[in-house]
Amino acid sequence: MIEFENVSYAYPTTAEDALGPVSFAIPAGQVCGVVGASGSGKSTLASAVAGMIPHVSGGRLSGEVRVGGRPVATTPLADLVTEVGLVVQNPFNQMSGAKFTVREELAFGLENLGVDRAEMVRRIEQVLEDLRIEHLADRSPFALSGGQQQLVAIGSVLVMRPRVVVLDEPTSQLDPASATLVFGALDALRRNGITIVLVEHRIEQLAELADRVLVLSHGSLVLDGSPHDVFTDELLPDLGVSSTRYTRAARRAAERGLWPESLPLPVLLPEAVRGFGAGLSVEHTP
Ligand code: ADP
Ligand code: MG
Repeated sequence: MIEFENVSYAYPTTAEDALGPVSFAIPAGQVCGVVGASGSGKSTLASAVAGMIPHVSGGRLSGEVRVGGRPVATTPLADLVTEVGLVVQNPFNQMSGAKFTVREELAFGLENLGVDRAEMVRRIEQVLEDLRIEHLADRSPFALSGGQQQLVAIGSVLVMRPRVVVLDEPTSQLDPASATLVFGALDALRRNGITIVLVEHRIEQLAELADRVLVLSHGSLVLDGSPHDVFTDELLPDLGVSSTRYTRAARRAAERGLWPESLPLPVLLPEAVRGFGAGLSVEHTP
C-alpha cells in the first residue's frame, strides 16, 4: 500500500538530507509504528507518505514514494487526500478555524471536495459513531479538551475515507486519559482495515497496537521488525528510544539471574507476568 524506493529528501533551506536513502514497503491493513530520537526524520517520513513532501514543503526529493500504487510526487494533493490522510501533533493546527460546530468542522473537507449533501451527512454520522463522539457533534471545536479535539482532527481525516492514515505524534500534547481515547480510535481504524503509519512516543501503547515498528536514526532506517523484536533490541537505548518498563525490569532481573534464560525479554505485561512467575518459582524451589 505504501512503497518507499530509495527515497532521499532535503528541505529547501538545508544542504544535508533529512531522510534517506530509505526503502521499505507497508502492506495494506498494516499498523506500522515509527520511532526514533528527536530529529531522526520521523516527521519528514510522515510528511513524505502524506504528500506534504514535496507538494507543500518543496525541497529536493529523489527516489519514489507510492501510495496505493500512485507516485505521490506526481499525484495532485487534491487526489491524494482521498487516498492518505495526515493527522499532526497539535489538533489545533488541524482545525479549519472557520466552523462553529464539530459537525461543520467534519464537513469542511468534504465541502471542498464537492461531495453531495446526503453523502456528506452519511459520512459524518458514520465518523461520529466510529469515534464515539456523537455527543460532541453540536459543540464548538474550540470548547473541547485536547483529546476530544484530536478525535475531531482524526475524524476530519476519516470523512475523506482514505485507505491510509498517517499520524505524527497524535498524543504528545495529550494527558494519558485523552491518549487512551485516541488509541481506542486507532484500534477501531485497524479493525476496519485501514493502513496506519503512527509516529508515537508512548511505546507500550504502540507495542500493543502495531504490527511492525520502524526505527529511524539520522534519517536512516536502522531497525525494522515486530514490536517485540524491535523493543527488546539491545541497540534501542543507543538510538534514543526507550523500551517499556517491563523490558527494563526484566533486563535488570536477568542481570541477577532472576529472568528465565529460556524466555525472551518481555515487552508487555502478560509476557512479564509469565517470566517473573517462572523466575520466582525457580528461585523458591526447595
Ligand atoms: P523528528 O520528527 O524525528 O524529530 P524531523 O523529520 O522533524 O525529525 O527532522 C529531521 C531533520 O530534518 C532534522 O535534522 C531537522 O532539523 C530537519 N528539519 C525538519 N524540518 C525542517 C525544515 N522545515 N527545514 C529544514 N530542516 C528541517
Ligand atoms: Mg517530529
